[in-house]
Amino acid sequence: MKIYLNGKLVDKREAKVSVFDHGFLYGDGAFEGIRSYNCRVFRLKEHIDRLYETMHTLMIDPHLTKKQMNDVVLATLRANKIKDGYIRLIVSRGEGDLGLDPRKCFGRPNVICITDKITLYPPELYQQGMAIITVPTVKNVPNALNPQLKSLNYLNNILAKMEATHCGYNEAVMLEENGYIGECTGDNVFIYKDGVLSTPHLGRLKGITAAAILELAAKIKIKVFEGYITRHEMYNAGECFLTGTAAELIPIVKVDGRTIGEGRPGPVTKKLLDAFHQLTKKDGVKYSF
Ligand SMILES: *Cc1c(COP(=O)(O)O)cnc(C)c1O
Repeated sequence: MKIYLNGKLVDKREAKVSVFDHGFLYGDGAFEGIRSYNCRVFRLKEHIDRLYETMHTLMIDPHLTKKQMNDVVLATLRANKIKDGYIRLIVSRGEGDLGLDPRKCFGRPNVICITDKITLYPPELYQQGMAIITVPTVKNVPNALNPQLKSLNYLNNILAKMEATHCGYNEAVMLEENGYIGECTGDNVFIYKDGVLSTPHLGRLKGITAAAILELAAKIKIKVFEGYITRHEMYNAGECFLTGTAAELIPIVKVDGRTIGEGRPGPVTKKLLDAFHQLTKKDGVKYSF
């Protein structure tokens, strides 16, 4: 396996960064998770744009243009001959001293690209649907750590994930500060009822997969709503599913012990999943090797 590290494609064993990297010491950095389908990188521009927005807020300059970052992703995929894969693009603050101050990071940011294959949840759950629970840890508030930042600091989500797995569930629903539905630890939440597909407008990362699902829903004339969603509404939804680059689209059939709809993946979920698969076949930046 070849890893892109600061301008070079190196062997996995040689892909190492300093223990003084503030990405390691403090979670100071930005990342993206991206997928490619049959030699097409899905929504690559959107991912690169979001990466640069995170870096802009963190004031990290990768010393690469967006075009060059785009080419980093394609070169890593080519080097590993990956047709269908998951891409992890990381820009960490770089090497500094033991203090927090990014100005003391004399080195350049570390730019890393890893390409691999992953499925987030066990395959059978995509067929049967998954059960999830709400957890005590709430989403970071926007004025502390804005959910829009896809930063290397994921403790908020990791704590929630641990609460779910500790109770025997694969995934957690995190509420935002007022107790409305926020999102899961790496996925956005959707519910469907009476012809309307709803997703929270606050307390969530604006996922690129979620945006694609909202577009597809509008195209097949399903009404969409972005706003406050309560647990009560989620429990009484006809259908529910999660979206994310790693997870893709996974049906949810139980939340906090309440059965959702018929207790199996619903027709709208299946329709959107099918439309999403069609989209990944034609959308995307092409590459070859
Ligand atoms: C990455 C991520 C998502 C999903 O976003 P996509 O752009 O669809 O991959 C949702 N929530 C969190 C917390 C994430 O980190």
